Amino acid sequence: MASYPNPQKELSSEETSSKGLFLGLVAITCLFLCLFLVSLWIVPYYGFDAIHPYAKWIAGFVVGVAIILVLWASIGLLLNATTGKYLPFFKKLRGVSVKLFLPVMTLIGRIFGISKNKIRSSFIRVNNELVLSEAKTFKPDEMLMLMPHCLQSSRCKIRLTYNVRNCKRCGKCSIAGLLELSDKYNIHLAVATGGTIARRIVVERRPKLILAVACQRDLASGIQDTYPLPVFGILNLRPHGPCLDTLVPLDHLEAAIRRFIDSRYYPENVDKSPISLPPIH
Ligand code: SF4
Repeated sequence: MASYPNPQKELSSEETSSKGLFLGLVAITCLFLCLFLVSLWIVPYYGFDAIHPYAKWIAGFVVGVAIILVLWASIGLLLNATTGKYLPFFKKLRGVSVKLFLPVMTLIGRIFGISKNKIRSSFIRVNNELVLSEAKTFKPDEMLMLMPHCLQSSRCKIRLTYNVRNCKRCGKCSIAGLLELSDKYNIHLAVATGGTIARRIVVERRPKLILAVACQRDLASGIQDTYPLPVFGILNLRPHGPCLDTLVPLDHLEAAIRRFIDSRYYPENVDKSPISLPPIH
């Protein structure tokens, strides 16, 4: 059987930062949030007695609970990203922590002079590990390959937005290879010109897993927008700069497909099994 690369490795391409950056920023963000919450209690502490003798203890209890929640989310995220294990109740907190931590981390990263793209790359990497750690597999029609329009050759005049199958497969851009993967694994392929169309495609197709290719900014915002829907993100390659004739690391995409698709639907197994696949469109 052919060997496929680790799907997570595509993030070791340009501008990829280590998981350590994300985890370090999670720890710093946690510290900042806790200090902030403590200050919320300490500052008015001396004034609470004037309201009610118990007011300061009630406020302290509320702040204490908030600190525990922040610590729980941070430790859960760190534990999951390093060991793949979940803390009790952490699955519900993951969304809160992912939505809360990325914006705060971006702010803190700016203070430390770390570029947004580095933080986003690191976030995407940790997100991918969280999605991988859930260890689920899917039927082909539960998956969606969502691609950015900048993959299409800038010299190609064919309109792909509403039907990617208009492509003549001349091989001058990655779309031809993506269609081959789509046919091979029977997974729907869609090309979106922006976030609004991407969201519409997701609403229409209702996938259970998205394999998305895009730049750091679009992947990070897409992962946040579609939560709790799992998105496995693969960075596009930009030999001509951003948004122009970008490329897909097809081998990494195929490795990700094979990681998430139920093995009964591998092309080599479909021929031997009685499973009938619905036609892709
Ligand atoms: S592979 Fe398809 S989309 Fe790309 S240049 Fe050829 S016809 Fe156009």
